Amino acid sequence: MSGRRWLFADQLGPHFLDDPGQPALLVESRAAFARRPVHRRRAHLVLSALRHRAAELGDQALFIQTGTYEQARAEAGGDLTVCAPTTWAARRLVARLPGVTVLPARGFGTGEEEFAAWAGRRGKRRLLLEDFYRDARTRLDVLMDGAEPAGGRWNFDGDNREPPPSGGLTLPAPPAFEEDEIDRQVRRDLDAWQRSGDVRLTGEDGPREFPVTRAEALTALRAFVRDRLPGFGPQQDAMLAGDPVLAHSLLSPALNHGLLDPVECAHAAEDAYRAGHAPLASVEGFVRQLIGWRDYVWNLYWHFGDEYRDRNALRARHPVPRWFAELEAESVTARCLSDALAQVRAHGYAHHIIRLMVLGNYALQRGWDPREVTEWFHANFVDGYDWVMVPNVIGMSQHADGGLMATKPYVGGGAYINRMSDYCADCAYRPTVRLGEQACPFTAGYWAFLDRHSARFAGNARMARPVRNLERLADRGQVVAQEKERGSDPP
Ligand code: SF4
Repeated sequence: MSGRRWLFADQLGPHFLDDPGQPALLVESRAAFARRPVHRRRAHLVLSALRHRAAELGDQALFIQTGTYEQARAEAGGDLTVCAPTTWAARRLVARLPGVTVLPARGFGTGEEEFAAWAGRRGKRRLLLEDFYRDARTRLDVLMDGAEPAGGRWNFDGDNREPPPSGGLTLPAPPAFEEDEIDRQVRRDLDAWQRSGDVRLTGEDGPREFPVTRAEALTALRAFVRDRLPGFGPQQDAMLAGDPVLAHSLLSPALNHGLLDPVECAHAAEDAYRAGHAPLASVEGFVRQLIGWRDYVWNLYWHFGDEYRDRNALRARHPVPRWFAELEAESVTARCLSDALAQVRAHGYAHHIIRLMVLGNYALQRGWDPREVTEWFHANFVDGYDWVMVPNVIGMSQHADGGLMATKPYVGGGAYINRMSDYCADCAYRPTVRLGEQACPFTAGYWAFLDRHSARFAGNARMARPVRNLERLADRGQVVAQEKERGSDPP
């Protein structure tokens, strides 16, 4: 039998043990929560998942609730093995602790060695997601008919950008999870830690909405494949006030706690396609998110190095304002942004387009410090882990890496939000107006952003046209002055 396996809170599925009876070590470190503010729902989920796993393993696990990981390691004694942890800091920690053997990471479709081999074959060419994804599909044999992609196409993105249907989607609610005594104790502990000042919690409490055990995670996966996967594709970029979920899977917290393996989820989706239960465009869109985007981001986190988090190519130096940091949705008039902040406050969740084109877009337009923005996303989302947020925010959302990850910044005006959502009809602002009382802060912010960075983007093939449009704006100076005056006030 293998030695004792140290399981971090994002390594809780059965695939992190070599055999079902392997002795385990689980550590609940209060110090890990004291470093930065954290959304109450995220803290609840982490603690509940860890404690549920400890209860499941019973005598097989040594469960140490203590101040720091160093104290826990000393208390555990003996030799330990650990699957490579998911952050730079945790890898440094396990490397310096005595008697800990570090194994390759698990929980991803493409490991670091496979990614390095793929990147090596690319030579000096860009590490494009599309190329990585096709390589992964082939290597993992997902949605393949022999050497060809199922249905003869790799990419259904073009079919998957529809606006929300009028009247919304009529889908069954995602499964609810019953809380137990472990959840109730977590709630009591968080209350006590908050009162004592040991942790600083953001957001609102409420019934637990995401899985904390393998059994719950499998229930969530089956419910998604049955109820939402068939409609996942076409409206995956749509936003609807009053429906934060649409056809999204809500599986990222379970995946990021290691309760589900991405390849098993991809196979479950493929089985639904092969059985005629879900259309290929939806299944391909979901598979792309898992063994494409998720694994790509995971590997870029390591590939770019620990200093990547400090990139600030656009020299964005403004601090994240208090109303945003504190999720004060009521102080915001802009309906899309107010709704997004309220969703995050209530659920610790918003789907990827709300993150990218509302929350991240607003921060990018205003020149907020990308490292602070990264920490805000990390703290306030139930699926927030360092490896997820650093590339997604620094590279994808804030363009702080100067284009290593995305060839153009994800900045957009009110026209995009109006096309992809139902927010604008009831907003005090008008998406087409850039100046005056009714000026949409996203539209005005878009032009002000371009004005600030026109020299940088004039030579970018994908941005040259917007920059030329900017030069034709008769009221360019007034729009820029208006945005300067708005400053860090809530829009
Ligand atoms: Fe958002 Fe502008 Fe639309 Fe209002 S008008 S909801 S601020 S995009």
